[in-house]
Amino acid sequence: MTDTIGSRVDSAFTSELAAAFRGQLVRPGDPTYEEHRRVWNGSIDRRPGLIARCAGVADVMDAVRLAGQAGARVAVRSGGHSFPGLSTCDDGLVIDLSLMKGIRVDPEARTARVQAGVLLGDMDRETQAFGLAVPAGIVTHTGVAGLTLGGGIGWLTRKLGLTIDQLLSVDLVTAHGELVKASENENADLFWGVRGAGGNFGIVTDFEFRLNPVGPTVLAGPIFWPMDESPNLLRFYRDWIKEAPDDLMTIVIHRKAPPLPFVPQELHGKPIAGVVCCYSGPIDEGERLLKPLRAFGTPVLDLCVPKPFVQHQAMFDPSFPRGLWYYFRACDVPELTDNIIDITYDHASQMKSPLTAFPIWQTGGASGRVPEDATAFNGRNAGYTFNINSTTESAEGFDEEKAWVRSFWSALAPYQTGVYMNFLMEEGENRVRQAYGDAKYERLKALKRKYDAGNFFQLNQNIRPD
Ligand SMILES: Cc1cc2nc3c(=O)[nH]c(=O)nc-3n(C[C@H](O)[C@H](O)[C@H](O)COP(=O)(O)OP(=O)(O)OC[C@H]3O[C@@H](n4cnc5c(N)ncnc54)[C@H](O)[C@@H]3O)c2cc1C
Repeated sequence: MTDTIGSRVDSAFTSELAAAFRGQLVRPGDPTYEEHRRVWNGSIDRRPGLIARCAGVADVMDAVRLAGQAGARVAVRSGGHSFPGLSTCDDGLVIDLSLMKGIRVDPEARTARVQAGVLLGDMDRETQAFGLAVPAGIVTHTGVAGLTLGGGIGWLTRKLGLTIDQLLSVDLVTAHGELVKASENENADLFWGVRGAGGNFGIVTDFEFRLNPVGPTVLAGPIFWPMDESPNLLRFYRDWIKEAPDDLMTIVIHRKAPPLPFVPQELHGKPIAGVVCCYSGPIDEGERLLKPLRAFGTPVLDLCVPKPFVQHQAMFDPSFPRGLWYYFRACDVPELTDNIIDITYDHASQMKSPLTAFPIWQTGGASGRVPEDATAFNGRNAGYTFNINSTTESAEGFDEEKAWVRSFWSALAPYQTGVYMNFLMEEGENRVRQAYGDAKYERLKALKRKYDAGNFFQLNQNIRPD
């Protein structure tokens, strides 16, 4: 079926699926169609022929089997946060898992079973009730499923590794509509592939994670300086961070100060650069560790204080709301060299939109000590991950922001070593190959031939079987 998707979902297909479906089928014209066809990125405007909101595994199996027989174009959606909108499509079938929100924490065994429709904030709520956590991402409304299947980086990456480093097993519906389990002991090749290569091999309906103690209080939040301090700040930061323990994770942010209640009014709209910290060890040690950072120059805003981990997890939520127009380009660089710092400042200071904020992620720590070939994820010791994001309210000004992103990314191109798959737009096969590196890409192709030779699951960062 490679490259032949695109057939419309017709009424006969819908009737057949409806016969035993336990969830909700949403068609064009239905009162909730507009709500359910929308994804997080407002610039994506697609109209699926049918949205199958699955209530359980049986619904997913039926939807896959019937779509396979009909040759229907299929998109798979959990949290709907794919930057390029890969979890929706025009005309075809969206297999939507967002109703599948079961979470079961076993505090004794320190494990959690999490269904595919769960969002990060739901998972933290349940695990933090027992002082436990899965290392995941930094915005609470992101889907656990897509984030995990790409790798998963966030505030606990250096302490506990990537999200996949705490993944024990998955239940997965294959392209033939069969349910299989994958773990280190069962279908180990598939388990290797799902830890980094997204939805290429099937639909994961259930994740089993190992839990670790975290917080519940962490020392966390941003410290900001005027943006024209950025070149000096980044030079200081790259040296300071070299000796940082795994308990400290940092993300550098450049943006215009948002008009949020905790930001003094005189700063609103002013260009600022900051280091956002999350120290998840003993608070007094964290305070000692952060002293040199706080002492650098004259911060204009210091919001780094002891707070509940779940509160810190929600810190970026107001910066990335659903429905705005977003465009991204990303790359990894090994070091913050003088050149890279100068490029960063040069482009950050040309930022136009008051909504744009771009993170530079520190990597390494526990995630960097897992052997590179243990999972499909690539670039564990990348150094820094640039996630150049631009945001506008609507189409107005969007093309200018996209041009800014592209010019920034092109300036960094000579220094980039790779890219995190979950931060790719639709950039073509070579970029997907670059995300995995040649050797892993070939291994993933062989796995794709074994589990999805017809490329049924192709609306993703696709690994072609041929
Ligand atoms: C606001 C925001 C914040 C983010 N923060 C982080 C972060 O902190 N760390 C990080 O690592 N990444 C982050 N990301 C990137 C994020 O990991 C990816 O966008 C991820 O794909 C989102 O998962 P989802 O389930 O919400 O997406 P969806 O759009 O539902 O799916 C994304 C992709 O995964 C596939 N997929 C989804 N569910 C399944 C499933 N159950 N089985 C098989 N395939 C499936 C889809 O087909 C699609 O190709 C962020 C993204 C956004 C928009």
